[in-house]
Amino acid sequence: MDLSFSAEDEAFRQQVRAFIDAALPDDLKAKAEIDAPVEMADTMRWHRILFEKGWVAPGWPTKHGGPGLTPTQRFILTEELELAGTPQLSPFGLTMVGPAIMQFGTPEQQARFLPKILSGEEVWCQGYSEPEAGSDLASLRCKAESDGDDFIVSGQKTWTTYAQYADWIFCLVRTNPTAKQQAGITFLLIDMKTPGVEARPMLTIGQQPAFCDTFFENVRVPKANAIGPIDGGWTVAKALLGHERTLLAMVGSSGRLLRRVKRIAAATTVGGRSLLEHDTWRAKIVRLEIELEALKMTNYRVLAGAQLGKAPGPESSILKLRGTEVNQQLYELAMELMGYDALGWYNDDPGVVPALAQGIAAPFCYARANTIFGGSNEIQKNIIAKWILGLPSAG
Ligand SMILES: Cc1cc2nc3c(=O)[nH]c(=O)nc-3n(C[C@H](O)[C@H](O)[C@H](O)COP(=O)(O)OP(=O)(O)OC[C@H]3O[C@@H](n4cnc5c(N)ncnc54)[C@H](O)[C@@H]3O)c2cc1C
Repeated sequence: MDLSFSAEDEAFRQQVRAFIDAALPDDLKAKAEIDAPVEMADTMRWHRILFEKGWVAPGWPTKHGGPGLTPTQRFILTEELELAGTPQLSPFGLTMVGPAIMQFGTPEQQARFLPKILSGEEVWCQGYSEPEAGSDLASLRCKAESDGDDFIVSGQKTWTTYAQYADWIFCLVRTNPTAKQQAGITFLLIDMKTPGVEARPMLTIGQQPAFCDTFFENVRVPKANAIGPIDGGWTVAKALLGHERTLLAMVGSSGRLLRRVKRIAAATTVGGRSLLEHDTWRAKIVRLEIELEALKMTNYRVLAGAQLGKAPGPESSILKLRGTEVNQQLYELAMELMGYDALGWYNDDPGVVPALAQGIAAPFCYARANTIFGGSNEIQKNIIAKWILGLPSAG
């Protein structure tokens, strides 16, 4: 099977590399070098640079301001950005609610929201999960009661990533408490500045304020902010999750991490030889490299479907499942290779912790979350069993 890219696509890859090299500010290059965490302000700075170039939303159609790239070019662009370690853009507007508004929103909603998602003028977050509704999302209780032209929203969302920076939140709310679980849910856009909305940040194990508990107390929201039919939000919610999971293959970031693993192995010497020359370590690295290549092939298969205009189906669950597992295993191997140095954090004294060892431990901790968010990996296995293997539902 010939898996090479066409000459045009290879030329596009070179164009992307040259652009990143020229446009990524020096301080962000320095952060990428040691995989240091980036602030939201850094992310939005890079968002605006990509927006100016026209590449901020590779998958958007041209009529909504997208660049008109082929699926292969989109893949190349994403892969090169990840390989270079550029700040990962917030996905909630660009790859989640934006496409949902395109698919289910009215022309007025599209004109109101899409341009500001694209330019980065408005930042979004996702209000799906609740304390008692994660995997079993349809049991959510955050309620929206009808009051004339408005809803009054009360309840709590949790694990709301970067809600403290967001201008808007897209929420699943219960609008009909007596209907069958999935039938009484509406997909609602809420302005975070509305009185009664409060986002309380929580710290991750890596000491990052990455997500929030978000509270709604009698929040007045116009019914015109519902995307899709009232009580018909489940269809919108599911379509959005399909897009979210396709994002999570992490082929580029894992490729970057694999390079780092090899650099660490090459720089660590035992018995006069680098770990790269020890059979046991080589075998561990090669096994993960093969896993990553296999993941890429699966990604290409999805890509081939996309070239023919197919929407992402249950195969996005395979990408999410394997992509996140391979990424975690690479971090585990990096930690194992580093031995005592694995205890180092980002800003440790370079005299104490070698530069090569910095920027591994904290993302290693965060990577535990990869197999939970976007629908846990056990849930992805249920989807694969039912929709790909045709097995009966559990329970
Ligand atoms: C870093 C991070 C960021 C997040 N960001 C957001 C966000 O921005 N917005 C948002 O809405 N949510 C967000 N989430 C929440 C995420 O979507 C949920 O954590 C996830 O859906 C799992 O739900 P839960 O935590 O309630 O776990 P539970 O659903 O309680 O699951 C607990 C365990 O039981 C397993 N399990 C549950 N049901 C089944 C089943 N039927 N079969 C087999 N195993 C099962 C799960 O796999 C898991 O291991 C984020 C989560 C994390 C970790």
